[in-house]
Order: sequence, then structure tokens, then C-alpha cells
Amino acid sequence: MQVMVVAAHPDDIERHCGGTVARWTRDGCGVVFVLCTSGNRGSDDPETTPEQLAALREAEQREAAALVGVTEVLFLRHEDGGLPFVLPQLREELVRLLRTYRPACVLTHDPFVHSGYLPYQLHPDHRAAGDAALQAAYPCAGGPLFYPAQIVAGLKPHKVQELYLFMTDAPDTLVDVTDTFASKLQAVRAHRSQHSAALEPRLRERAEVLGRAQGMRLAEGFKRVVLP
Ligand SMILES: [Zn+2]
Repeated sequence: MQVMVVAAHPDDIERHCGGTVARWTRDGCGVVFVLCTSGNRGSDDPETTPEQLAALREAEQREAAALVGVTEVLFLRHEDGGLPFVLPQLREELVRLLRTYRPACVLTHDPFVHSGYLPYQLHPDHRAAGDAALQAAYPCAGGPLFYPAQIVAGLKPHKVQELYLFMTDAPDTLVDVTDTFASKLQAVRAHRSQHSAALEPRLRERAEVLGRAQGMRLAEGFKRVVLP
């Protein structure tokens, strides 16, 4: 199976679905990562520049991806914090990538989170990346009248079968990541510019709480959406 993960920033994927990706690549699944931004404003250090930070975070992202079995990492290089302002362009880019890579399943941010986080605390890029990915997967990629220039250029329409939404407040699908949790943590650690001591215990506790309900030691949770 071919899978595409669409995320706003380097480190989003590993924190929220790194164990699932590691498990699926181990089982022979082809996975491609799409990073909408390179996280070029994600620092409290006024001495660093957005260009330096983007280069550093792209290198960290490639290293992290390899640790969960992914070698294909695509950077769209939109401005960190600016995704709500480029939604039309982002949607078109994602449709092009869906028609090119033709994944059966897309993992992305749940754009409709309404509890857990206050809506005001949700990063605007997370909502925008999830919204653009959802629209790209359905209805755009499968409809030949969306972005017909792509069709004229030789791409075929593509229907995505299902979405797995991460950072959701309504997980209905759990993936057992007990065997791949160590790889997930290694990948999370590869994002050295974003790492904090408090992060790993938080991730482990979340995985334990999620798994407990279904007899798994460690799990990642998703809202699964089957597309028409
Ligand atoms: Zn993020």
C-alpha cells in the first residue's frame, strides 16, 4: 500500500504518528512525507535566521524520516505560520502530489479539533494543512475538472480511499505501536532544535492512555475517514 503523510512542520509527523509510520514501513508499506513548511519560524533565538532554521530543520526531518523507514521527503517550503494565506496554492500542490504518488491512504492533521486544545490554541498551520489535505483528497484529486491543466499535462485523477487524522480529539482507530515506539522516540529526538526533556514522558503517557482502552501497551490514535 502507498501512504502519504501531509504535515505542517518538521516534527509533527514523528510526534503524532511516528510509531504508526515505522510499523507500516516495517510491513512493506511505501510512505512519502510532505512538509508544507520547513518550520522556519520555530525558534525563540533572535540570532538565528529563518533560512538557517529551515535548512537545519529539513536536515533533522530527513534524519527522522529515515529512522521510521521513510526516504522520500518532500518540502513545499511555505512560510511557517503562513499556511492559511496560501490555501488555494497549497491545495493545488497537494492534488498534484496525490495524482503523482497515488496513495490509498493519507495521514494529516485533524482540522476540526474542538476540545483538548482551546480553538484559540490550535496552530493555524495545523488547521490549514489538514483542511488543504482533506480538500485535496476529497473531492479534488479524483475529479478531472479540478485543476485540468494537471490532467492535460499527463496526470490521471486519483481517488484516495481513506484518511487517518492525527492530533484529533476524537480518535476512533488505534494503531498498536508497542514494537515501534523506540523508533518513534529516536525519530522525535532527531528534531534536536525542537526537543525538550518534558516531551518524551508526555508522548509515552499519551500512548499508554490511548492503548489501555483496547489492551495495547502503547498506541497512536486517529480519526479514520473512509472517502466516497
Ligand atoms: Zn506543527
